[in-house]
Amino acid sequence: MASGQFKEGIAAGRLSPAEYAENFSDLHPPLDNHEALVEADRCYFCYDAPCMNACPTSIDIPLFIREIATGNPLGSAKTIFDQNILGGMCARVCPTETLCEEVCVREVAEGKPVQIGRLQRYATDIAMRQGKQFYKRAAPTGKKIAVVGAGPAGLAAAHRLARYGHDVTIFEARPKSGGLNEYGIAAYKSVNDFAQAEVDYVTAIGGITIENGKALGRDVHLAELTAQYDAVFLGLGLAGVNALRADGEDAKGVDNAVDFIAELRQAADLAELPVGRRVVVIGGGMTAIDAAVQSKLLGAEEVTICYRRGQEHMNASDYEQELANVNGVVIRHWLQPKRVVAANGKVTGIEMEYTSVKHGKLAGTGETVMLAADQVFKAIGQAFEGAALNGSGAAIALEGGRIKVDAEGRTSIPGVWAGGDCILGGDDLTVSAVAQGRDAAESIHRTLTANGRV
Ligand code: SF4
Repeated sequence: MASGQFKEGIAAGRLSPAEYAENFSDLHPPLDNHEALVEADRCYFCYDAPCMNACPTSIDIPLFIREIATGNPLGSAKTIFDQNILGGMCARVCPTETLCEEVCVREVAEGKPVQIGRLQRYATDIAMRQGKQFYKRAAPTGKKIAVVGAGPAGLAAAHRLARYGHDVTIFEARPKSGGLNEYGIAAYKSVNDFAQAEVDYVTAIGGITIENGKALGRDVHLAELTAQYDAVFLGLGLAGVNALRADGEDAKGVDNAVDFIAELRQAADLAELPVGRRVVVIGGGMTAIDAAVQSKLLGAEEVTICYRRGQEHMNASDYEQELANVNGVVIRHWLQPKRVVAANGKVTGIEMEYTSVKHGKLAGTGETVMLAADQVFKAIGQAFEGAALNGSGAAIALEGGRIKVDAEGRTSIPGVWAGGDCILGGDDLTVSAVAQGRDAAESIHRTLTANGRV
């Protein structure tokens, strides 16, 4: 253990190079050929495949597993990509334990599901390693479509539209494409720059141009896009971060978990990334877990997640909670932030108030506990920032603080579709964003052509 482990305050270089490498290696190493065949053999190829119904992109899971079992991983990859062109990343980041694997009949019967996610990774990795492209573009239609946001929804929409022969331009505010896949998930879930490899794989179909560093409302405006393009797809994601609403939260050392996760993913050298000795993370979702586990892996001595409700109410899956536990993160429940304590402007602790549910409403009990902390991460959800949309054409209708869409992804502005986390009902899952982008692209194609005929 490096001596830096016990440095007070927020400090870099807590671990040795070997420890960083070990801590941030692939969470689930890939299956080799033999392991994949053995695992595929466990599938019953159920005629009513509950796993398939649980997949937001409706991948034909028994078929792709059967193709692996028969020694046809490329056929398997095509089955996956037909429904989900970002199947490689979804194989890494999907909470399969609450989706396909939760309902797998072998989970129900024996508590040991077929490892669908790892099999999906096996097949898609082989196809991507070989640079195998399964789709050719249709003849050019002459239609131009603007996509705002190069995250999972935007990339899935762009790929489907390009397949149909439309020309797509993606406007992306950040310097790199990939959205949350590049900036928003734990480093050990996507090693070896996989997010960028996937962007390259998706755009290799042709007909897709990405303009990085172009933000809606700053560099491009919705009214211009609707005037210059035949259709617009908005895959904006969520740019805002909810406040703690605790006294003193402006103290140095109170940071947004999403910024920490993004910084970590972009860090050239983890030894230069500072982290607190005692870290408190406020929240109960995947972002809270990702920030907490990575703090621990960067060498923080104590990491505590505080969540305002019970264990069963956490958005993070049981598997993610277990991952936090095995990495030494303590999860405490029924606690909400009351006051950040600081000395010389720097956080030294956080006073938490116990909560309980009274008459169906969550409320503080008045009893408090003080937790020592030199870094506090806010992970209590993100919010849609609609400022970029308004003032640039007709105001788009919102509902529940996000963009309102119909069943096909159409917004209130004619010619403008939306999908992913920015729409009402967006559930912060890569796989759902892919499904919404793909389905909106189908709707755009039907609208721009004579019901699908060019
Ligand atoms: Fe195979 Fe499980 Fe799906 Fe049945 S539910 S088809 S056993 S993966």
